[in-house]
Formats: sequence, C-alpha cells, structure tokens
Amino acid sequence: MSFPGGTELLLVLAVVMLLFGAKKVPELARSMGRAGKEFKSGLKEGEVQAAIEGPCPFCKTEIPVESQFCPGCAKSADEVVQARALAASEIKS
Ligand SMILES: [Zn+2]
Repeated sequence: MSFPGGTELLLVLAVVMLLFGAKKVPELARSMGRAGKEFKSGLKEGEVQAAIEGPCPFCKTEIPVESQFCPGCAKSADEVVQARALAASEIKS
C-alpha cells in the first residue's frame, strides 16, 4: 500500500456513514456550519442590541436593533451609549 492514510480516511468515513447514515453526513456538516455562523452573528447582535436599541438621546429617533448609528442624527453607537450613561448618572445625582 502506497497510501495507508487514504485507506484510514475511507475507514473513518465509512464508520461515520454507518453511525449517522450516508444522507445525514452533508446535512450534519451543514447544520454544524450554520450553528457556528448563527453563534457568531448572535454574539454581534447581542452587543449592538444592548448598546444602541431604543430612542436616541440626541434626537429621540427610535434606533433599530441592528443599527451602528442613529438614523435621525447619524450619531455613532459609542456617542449614543455615552450620552445615555451620562443622562442616567445625572438622574441619580
Ligand atoms: Zn439621533
């Protein structure tokens, strides 16, 4: 045998197909890829959602969840978050 590695790979593939079924292997790979992608975008969405969703502190425009800036006055997410934190601390004192 000149390629023992190739034979081993075929054996592993055969075992995987026996365990999950030949039709399910591409399905499994696809769902695994999709899960990873959704996990990443979920993390990203969570950050933006917590940071900027809601009324703008500058122009009172309702900012959509996925926005990176205010659609009303074009302030960045950072500016919106800072202005909100400032307003919150002013209310407390
Ligand atoms: Zn605004």
